[in-house]
Amino acid sequence: RPTVVFDNVVFGYEPDRTILHGLSFEVPAGQDVAIVGPSGAGKSTIARLLFRFYDPWSGRILIDGQDIREVTQASLRCAIGIVPQDSVLFNDTIGYNIGYGRDGATIADIEKAARGAALSGLIDRLPKRFETEVGERGLKLSGGEKQRVAIARTLVKNPPILLLDEATSALDTRTEQDILATLHEVSENRTSLSIAHRLSTIADADRIFVLNEGKLAEAGTHNELLRAD
Ligand code: ADP
Ligand code: ADP
Repeated sequence: RPTVVFDNVVFGYEPDRTILHGLSFEVPAGQDVAIVGPSGAGKSTIARLLFRFYDPWSGRILIDGQDIREVTQASLRCAIGIVPQDSVLFNDTIGYNIGYGRDGATIADIEKAARGAALSGLIDRLPKRFETEVGERGLKLSGGEKQRVAIARTLVKNPPILLLDEATSALDTRTEQDILATLHEVSENRTSLSIAHRLSTIADADRIFVLNEGKLAEAGTHNELLRAD
């Protein structure tokens, strides 16, 4: 369970427009840290830097003390599993969508990931496990079920770090609560960074940072931040 550190990170997409103004925060090993802020604050930019889609102008991003610029792209992808807001599923079986046949994943791995994502109920209802297609010709999945498939797809790689990027923003409130409970469970043995624009979706985080115009405005637990309002 690694520690993730942003150390005085400065970054912008265009030379004359700084988006992140010297951002420093730590996600301690095994903890669940959340970054919340309005649209345009720079939240997704943090995710893109963590995946090295871009590198900071200055400052460093460290995983277990190592600058991510010194890590191969392949090991970075193994270390960090992302659950995005909208996952595109293949027009194929649930098993394939979770990762069957890719990266050496076995049926046992797939089933374990499906259980972790609380998909067992759906799988048990299928006539042949995993063999009913998702998509136009086959099974219709609800938004919540699709998101569970996406969570299982991430879990199958067993990443030590989870990045939840607005993972429940596209869901209705009731489904959101179900998925949040599952995400809370699957983050338990991992280091997890959640990105959200609503405080209500990150109530379980060990620590919350409020990001505004590329600066960290406040930090605390959910209750501390509510009291500060
Ligand atoms: P958030 O995720 O908090 O909504 P983003 O990190 O997506 O915010 O964006 C922060 C700022 O960076 C916004 O002002 C946005 O317009 C700008 N931005 C995002 N992506 C790009 C890009 N590829 N090129 C230029 N500007 C960008
Ligand atoms: P897979 O590795 O499961 O075949 P992809 O090829 O779609 O999936 O993506 C490879 C990796 O790139 C993902 O596992 C994730 O680490 C990263 N990635 C993909 N899309 C995004 C995104 N929108 N934001 C951040 N990282 C992403």
